[in-house]
Amino acid sequence: MGIRTGRQFLDSLRDERQIWLEGERVKDVAGHPRLGATAHALAELYDLQHRADLNEQLTYRSPTSGERVGLSFIEPASAEDLARRRGMVKTWMDWCGGMMGRSPDFMNIHITGFGSAHEYFARAGKQFGHNIRQYYEYQREHDLCLTHTLLSPAIDKSRPVQQQPPGVAAAIERETQAGIVINGARSVATLAPFANEIAVFPSSYLQNSEEARPYAFAFCVPVATPGLRFICRPSLSELGGRPGDHPFSSRMDEMDCVGIFDHVLVPWERVFIARDVTLANGLFVETGCMNQIMHQFAIKNLAKAEFLLGVALNMCDAVNSSRAENVQNLLAEMIDAVELLRAAIRAAEADHAPGPNGTVLPNGQPLWTVRLMFPRLYPRLVEIVQLLGSSNMVLMPGLAELAGERARDVELYCQGVGVTPEQRIRLFRLAWDVACSSFAGRQTLYERFFSGDPWRLGMARYQGYPHKEPLKQRVWDFIARVGKEGPAE
Ligand SMILES: Cc1cc2nc3c(=O)[nH]c(=O)nc-3n(C[C@H](O)[C@H](O)[C@H](O)COP(=O)(O)OP(=O)(O)OC[C@H]3O[C@@H](n4cnc5c(N)ncnc54)[C@H](O)[C@@H]3O)c2cc1C
Repeated sequence: MGIRTGRQFLDSLRDERQIWLEGERVKDVAGHPRLGATAHALAELYDLQHRADLNEQLTYRSPTSGERVGLSFIEPASAEDLARRRGMVKTWMDWCGGMMGRSPDFMNIHITGFGSAHEYFARAGKQFGHNIRQYYEYQREHDLCLTHTLLSPAIDKSRPVQQQPPGVAAAIERETQAGIVINGARSVATLAPFANEIAVFPSSYLQNSEEARPYAFAFCVPVATPGLRFICRPSLSELGGRPGDHPFSSRMDEMDCVGIFDHVLVPWERVFIARDVTLANGLFVETGCMNQIMHQFAIKNLAKAEFLLGVALNMCDAVNSSRAENVQNLLAEMIDAVELLRAAIRAAEADHAPGPNGTVLPNGQPLWTVRLMFPRLYPRLVEIVQLLGSSNMVLMPGLAELAGERARDVELYCQGVGVTPEQRIRLFRLAWDVACSSFAGRQTLYERFFSGDPWRLGMARYQGYPHKEPLKQRVWDFIARVGKEGPAE
């Protein structure tokens, strides 16, 4: 089949999925007043793959079917492949201003990374290695959109998952001839209403005990699997939903959900890990998949930082404040963030390391830096947009005023420098949407946490940093050398 069109993607959402929003079951995601616009924004990404000027850049020939498939499924074998994949991710991310952190390429790269490392799964039995490899090829050939969930809801954060109240955290309840039966909840599954399948993977550390084994699993099932339901948080597109006034929150609310597994049967061929704590704990690092994912989200971060810089530059031009020294210094801070991200991505590609089965892994060191810095950088970039935009972001009325009785008032006070009143309204409404709205708040929360708790990530960074010993030794060598030279004449 190969790459899908936006229409094919939208049609694929019409199934028996159980999505619950504000107390009601959503009958048709693509046609829903709150969810439909996001489905259509995702459909635009699929359509880009078919554009004559982008087809070569966004797709490649499947090694098995010969069909054109999405380039985020490529198993990179060189720095050139990593650069090609960067071009693909960047094109999608620029299309959405980096605001769709869970666009399908995110999970495509996950599953590809796992598919390349199928021997890791086969350590528990060769069928598990076969399953993940088959699933990777199936997802690639059908261009499926995946949501994922790595965490169990924790009622008491001081206790491990197996000591939470019974029935809360999803666990393997039993095995049958057909597969494993999962019961309990998983959080957070962003994008679930718009996904074809859900990947349920382990991420938090599990104790190596008999009691923890039912929580050690990895599998993928369709969102429309019987017994599986998703409960959404309230929609962010509630403020009238006009794209001109709320360009992001009306169109790109990816939606965050809790997944409830009500005795869900997962067929054996979709099971990649079952009751194996060691494999669950080592999954992301030992497969090398983490490096591939960090490459994807570093590119997303670059697109997002560039977009905010573009917003800020335009705002300053529109009110002619760019010549002020304080303004230039704030803009310089944004420029530094952009260039740091760009450099880290290029370094990771250039200094790649060997991965499983002839693949290459982007170098983890610069990508870890991005992973730890961006949760602090992003809120600062948003703060700068607020500092530069100030009251302009609340003075701009809705676009409807331009066609109403007060149009002349609005045209008078919304004049800009080098922009029309309509352009000025649109620009500052967009700035509001990325820096002040509920959508903006959720984006900041996302950047703080989506890749894990930054505090514990910092510990992992310190503990895993490979250059500590030589750096320490260099200092001792220096001290010894200087000590031998004796007092200066
Ligand atoms: C908008 C958004 C979308 C997301 N989408 C997804 C998704 O699609 N799929 C997915 O799998 N995950 C998703 N996540 C979840 C993300 O993986 C987690 O937020 C992240 O791993 C942190 O876990 P937590 O939210 O439970 O925070 P916690 O781990 O509870 O951390 C919150 C704070 O409490 C502290 N803390 C809590 N417990 C302890 C403890 N025992 N010891 C020390 N400190 C502690 C932390 O240091 C931190 O400061 C999403 C998160 C957000 C915010």
